[in-house]
Formats: sequence, C-alpha cells, structure tokens
Amino acid sequence: MNKLHQLLEAYGLRKTKCRIEVLRLFLEHRHALAHAAIEQQLGPQFDRVTLYRTLHSFEEHGLLHSIPSTDGITRYALCQQACNRHRHQHDHIHFSCTACGHTYCLNEVYVPTLRMPEGYQVEEFRFCVQGVCDKCVLQPKEQLASA
Ligand SMILES: [Zn+2]
Ligand SMILES: [Zn+2]
Ligand SMILES: [Zn+2]
Repeated sequence: MNKLHQLLEAYGLRKTKCRIEVLRLFLEHRHALAHAAIEQQLGPQFDRVTLYRTLHSFEEHGLLHSIPSTDGITRYALCQQACNRHRHQHDHIHFSCTACGHTYCLNEVYVPTLRMPEGYQVEEFRFCVQGVCDKCVLQPKEQLASA
C-alpha cells in the first residue's frame, strides 16, 4: 500500500480518487495551497464542490489546516502529527513570501504568547509574517521577474 493510502487510512478517511489526488498535491509541495491552485493543478476531473468537500473533510480530520492571510485567500497546509479528528494543535508561524507568493508553515517558529489585560478574551489570533523565503532569497532579482 502506498503512502497516500496509508495516510488516508490512518486518519479514518475513505479512499476516493479526489482525496488521493488532493493529498498527493499536498505531499508534493512544500508550500500551502489555495483552492484555486488545487483546482488548476488537478484540471477539470473533479468539480468545485467535490474539491471543497475534500478540503473540508481533510480539515475536519486533522490532516490539513487552513491558514489566515492578508489577501483574503484561504490556503491549506498539511498538519503535523499533533492534530486529529478532535482537535487541531498549532503554534507555528505562517510565512508568506512576497517574491514567489507562496505561504509556508514554519513549524519550528512558535507564535508569541499574548498577555491580555484583564477582562479581554482572545477568540482568534491570526499571525502571518511576510518577507522573502529561503529559496527566493538566493535568486538574483532578474530571475524572479521571469519566473
Ligand atoms: Zn492541524
Ligand atoms: Zn519565495
Ligand atoms: Zn501551518
């Protein structure tokens, strides 16, 4: 059994063609993927609703997490082992590269802890860092423009 099948099984997900293909994409890419990008890469073989449901069930089962962004586009990335069907556990930072436009999970960088004044209750904390990623920083500017 290959890795894709094993993963789906481990997370209690039925193996459908769409789930297998979407998961394959996430394993092939180091950066987070937006719905539109997934749709583009997989072509017309799956409709929008099927893709949406697939992403949703992956998120529900602790396989993917959605990432807040400043551009209003929701991106998804693979979760680390700590997540499961009952809860997501994330304390890492997301980095969006202004050169290649990709968003990365920086699993080794933790979000800072906030000390809120008395009476304030935090419901959501969106933290996104912008800059140039490790791959882009090594490339001369002209190459970036044509990429
Ligand atoms: Zn998660
Ligand atoms: Zn980059
Ligand atoms: Zn992440």
